[in-house]
Amino acid sequence: MNKRPPEDATRTAHASSGGQRHHGVVTTPVYHASTVRFRNVTALRDERNTEVTYGRKGTPTTFAVQEAIAELEGADGCIVFPSGVSAITTALIALLDSGDHLLMVDTAYKPTRDFSDKLLSTMGVETTYYGAGEDIRYYLRPNTRAVFLESPGSQTMEMLDIPTIVEAAHSHGASTIIDNTWATPLYCKPLNMGVDVCIHSVTKYISGHSDLMMGAVSANGKVLERIRTNASQLGLCTAPDDCYLAMRGLRTLAARLERHSRTAHTLATWLADRPEVGRVLYPALPDAPGHDIWKRNYTGATGLLSVLLEPVPDAQVVAMLDGFRYFGLGYSWGGFESLALPIPKQARPHTPWPGDGPIVRFHVGLEDPDDLLADLKAGFTRLNGADGLHGRSSS
Ligand SMILES: *Cc1c(COP(=O)(O)O)cnc(C)c1O
Repeated sequence: MNKRPPEDATRTAHASSGGQRHHGVVTTPVYHASTVRFRNVTALRDERNTEVTYGRKGTPTTFAVQEAIAELEGADGCIVFPSGVSAITTALIALLDSGDHLLMVDTAYKPTRDFSDKLLSTMGVETTYYGAGEDIRYYLRPNTRAVFLESPGSQTMEMLDIPTIVEAAHSHGASTIIDNTWATPLYCKPLNMGVDVCIHSVTKYISGHSDLMMGAVSANGKVLERIRTNASQLGLCTAPDDCYLAMRGLRTLAARLERHSRTAHTLATWLADRPEVGRVLYPALPDAPGHDIWKRNYTGATGLLSVLLEPVPDAQVVAMLDGFRYFGLGYSWGGFESLALPIPKQARPHTPWPGDGPIVRFHVGLEDPDDLLADLKAGFTRLNGADGLHGRSSS
């Protein structure tokens, strides 16, 4: 018997494999269900029944993707949600009560901040913010019950020193919760670094094909059960077709990420040498901000990066973005296609904005790298020619 623990690529290929449970069919089929008929009254009354009991509580299709993500995270269990945002909000509600304080990094995804500032606040939880790179001990209060991390930060890519933050939070008696979407369960394992709750927007790389919305929360022990109870009380359930698609995406995650990562490195290195670029915000580049932390705590970098341009009028950035052949304009990321997004400057009291120029975020897809480089190159030609000074202003 081969006792070697499997690597992640092997896990993604074999996790929650159907075995003989579904007539030998390799992929867990889509179970559409509301009612589930029980064999007898004893089975119906069995409260410890963890099998299929009612559609809202999940079907074998749901359980397959939950099991697979939990295995990759090294967690007791995983719960899937109808979106990444619902995964985040449900986990926060489970960890916090009225009168508690939540300490959140101010580079967190905007809808996460909005929920905390608005809905969570009406529930009696106060949220304050720490800066990426700051010592959180300065911000902990006697009633701080949870510390929220997101690394790298949304859009400006600041890395967080996860083990240091976890240690400070835990010695204060606070739980830690991380949005790990950028790294995926393959490139960072926060639970192994002591984080209590790890969240993914499955919408991004795990699904990988830009055609579904889903979130996942992985945790251990009592925390996991509390989140499961809350999800159930809120009536959240994830569609079986989407679970099937997420599972299908997960099977190829390791191979896709290798490609995203390789092309992103190529493009990031090329971008860093362009005169129009002030700084490439991609932690895998040796001189990027947060590179040391990335090297220590992450095993890879995915295909999402931001570029801080030298200051230019907005019209020039628009000329660049409007003319791309392959980089589509759109929200989300993690799919097979490349995307570009202009990033508006945001108010963040604790983390300095990386510079004065505009920021464009790129998602590097699965296209041929040379085609993407040619697209970027043509983009810079438009950027340089659109200010009217060169007599080629677009009308
Ligand atoms: C997209 C995203 C989310 C939200 O996920 P949805 O599936 O769109 O609800 C949360 N966190 C990060 C970092 C994201 O990029």
